[in-house]
Amino acid sequence: MNKIRVMESSVAKWQRIIDGKGTDGGVLDCPPCRIYYLLVCYGCPIADFTGNKFCKGSPYGPWLRHQIEAHDKLVKRVYCPECRRLAKDMHDFMIEIVEDLKAKAGEKGRDGEDGPPRS
Ligand SMILES: [Zn+2]
Repeated sequence: MNKIRVMESSVAKWQRIIDGKGTDGGVLDCPPCRIYYLLVCYGCPIADFTGNKFCKGSPYGPWLRHQIEAHDKLVKRVYCPECRRLAKDMHDFMIEIVEDLKAKAGEKGRDGEDGPPRS
């Protein structure tokens, strides 16, 4: 699957969460994790973008922290306006990565498929 398409499914996932229809299962239902997070986080477009593995430096950290500190539920989803704001941050961040991948694909004149990432 091409990286742009993977990240677009992540945008869709966060849109469902913002709409109150979806939940966040972390690694288990994160489209890029399912492909790139085998045993370690490797080659994910999010890690390429932030320069950090395991979604460090992305808005996922504040979302997760808020879920644990404010709600402490098994299911991570929108429970309050702050949740919605943090989910929106994550959604916008996924869009930013899609745009970035598209811009890079445009430069190379290809569709974003490239070799293994340098680490
Ligand atoms: Zn909340």
